[in-house]
Amino acid sequence: TGRLQLNTRVARISDELVLILVEDRTQARRVEQVRRDFVVNVSHELKTPVGGLALLAEAVEGAADDPEAVARFARRMKTEAGRLAHLVTEIVDLSRLQTSDLLAEMVIVDVSACAAEAVDQTASLAGSHEIVTAVGDDPARLRIYGARDLIVTAIRNLLTNAITYSEDGTRVSVVTRRVDDVVEVAVSDQGKGISAPDQERIFERFYRVDAARSRLTGGTGLGLSIVKHICANHGGDITLWSQEGQGSTFTLRLPAVADDPRPTGSPAPHA
Ligand code: ADP
Repeated sequence: TGRLQLNTRVARISDELVLILVEDRTQARRVEQVRRDFVVNVSHELKTPVGGLALLAEAVEGAADDPEAVARFARRMKTEAGRLAHLVTEIVDLSRLQTSDLLAEMVIVDVSACAAEAVDQTASLAGSHEIVTAVGDDPARLRIYGARDLIVTAIRNLLTNAITYSEDGTRVSVVTRRVDDVVEVAVSDQGKGISAPDQERIFERFYRVDAARSRLTGGTGLGLSIVKHICANHGGDITLWSQEGQGSTFTLRLPAVADDPRPTGSPAPHA
């Protein structure tokens, strides 16, 4: 509920002096609730693949005299186990993002290099998609303070979605550029797009527009919420433009490292 949660403690210091401590627990309660919801969601999400594995194991037992069926079930078990491993990795990533302070891992990061790395890492998924990258500025103007791995992860998650939710043969583009004090990475696809009501919800943990289809493609519903947390941890944000039937553009916006003010010793940005 939105009600104030106050903890009150009274301590008598002396005959004249009474100390009353009032602690506002509202925010703490909210955080606890979010955590509890998360645990409930996680156990629900884990039960599905674990249940699938148990059923497949039974099927293997029942098909002992049919080697072909055994091989088929074994392959499905492998897929299901892979999915489970992927889900566990994402859950761990997400809880690490929610709890840890990343300041210690922050270095100067060239975002265009992160985008290139994310493109490399998704090459095996790309199929016959046309992947186009563009860098709109001198890399020196595309630097942020950040945790490099996480920036690569964020871009990779957006790319994976762009590829997953658009037809083979269509174009996916990754554009890195500087806009004022912000480094932007825009990942666009020509896919099915996202309806307005779903646009409000897709950044929520475990939310999928089409749960059955997303599960088939190995989706967990955690990818975008990981991206959102990575943005928040870097003092940035993520925006979405989408039109059903036309495609989507997700734009990461991260605060740029201030340009070097020294007139000499560094090349002019547009030299
Ligand atoms: P998932 O693992 O299911 O892809 P995400 O958190 O990455 O989880 O995305 C949540 C949901 O948002 C997806 O299930 C999908 O329905 C929708 N979505 C994400 N990216 C796109 C996109 N580029 N085009 C269309 N739908 C998308």
